[in-house]
Amino acid sequence: MDNPNTMTRRSFLATTSCLGAALWAARAFPLPAMGAGIAEDGRVSTQPVTDKGFASVRKIGKGVYATISDPSKGLETLSNGGFIIGTDAALLIEGFRTPAGASFQHTALRQVSAVPIRAALDTHYHFDHTLGNAFYGTQGIPIWAHEKTAPLMGNVYGPGSGPVWHERIAAFEKRITDATNETTREHAKGDLNALKLVLASVDSTAVSLPNRSLEPSSLPLTVDLGAIQVVIESYPGHTPSDLIVRVPQQNIIFTGDLLFNGMYPATSDANLSNWRKTLEMFSGYDKGTIFVPGHGPLCGPEGIATLRSVFDDLADQASKMYKAGIPVEEAQQRYNVPERFKSFPIFAWSFCIGPTIAKLYEELKTGGT
Ligand SMILES: [Zn+2]
Repeated sequence: MDNPNTMTRRSFLATTSCLGAALWAARAFPLPAMGAGIAEDGRVSTQPVTDKGFASVRKIGKGVYATISDPSKGLETLSNGGFIIGTDAALLIEGFRTPAGASFQHTALRQVSAVPIRAALDTHYHFDHTLGNAFYGTQGIPIWAHEKTAPLMGNVYGPGSGPVWHERIAAFEKRITDATNETTREHAKGDLNALKLVLASVDSTAVSLPNRSLEPSSLPLTVDLGAIQVVIESYPGHTPSDLIVRVPQQNIIFTGDLLFNGMYPATSDANLSNWRKTLEMFSGYDKGTIFVPGHGPLCGPEGIATLRSVFDDLADQASKMYKAGIPVEEAQQRYNVPERFKSFPIFAWSFCIGPTIAKLYEELKTGGT
């Protein structure tokens, strides 16, 4: 770690990371822990077990708890997560953005149970779901993830990734300078802030890789925690490393980032057509299903329907622009957020909208839908 690149990156981030994070947080909308439909669901406790502002933990079933983040109040967790407690053991879900986030969730679990912890599971490799893993490491808690999670984390966030991040920062700064109109410049500024947040996250913690790799061929995997079974499954879409955790007896699903509820999805690593097929499958689940999304409030099937309509709108607009002969670079900037999605947070234009439009163009070019 002690090489010139790391040092340069450290000093660079010391002056910019707080600003980047603060700016991004200020742009985020305060998020409720649950949608209106779910508030009526008798299984979901109205009082949280704990609420630190940046995240709250509440009971959503028998032995099942959801951690819901509110990034407008702090970025310790950033993603959602949760835990499931049986009579013999517990399973934690997500490593969050920081060890402090993982520690928060661990403390919440210990407030309600003293059972041994079988493992913590990362739903995919992204920084806001894994960079807090180091905390679990200090507690001797095994970390489970899809077989592709550890190699992807190593490549994207590991010690050798410094120069790549520097190039990306430089490219993003150039996009601000080169912007030919205000919209493009605003998108580029937001993108730079988001990138700085990722960098600050990588730089402030030791990347701690999962130590149990789950191969898709070994899934679904049923884990008996004692009087409660959880099923780990893999579905494609958001990244090549996505896992979900289901509690079939109670119709509860932790989707990881296969579901962004009430916000634009991050698609840089996505396979869109597979993702949309996965969402179609989720929409066939029981109407009483509680979904714990990777980001956004707790929801029922209406959250799946909303994300599908976000993708439909992106696809409609991409198709129109493609047919009108608008080049992809321009189309990526010209996507127009419709009135009904105006309140939906966008983590960064180039993590959410840009890659979606580019991928849809690619599908249109190759004759897909
Ligand atoms: Zn993600």
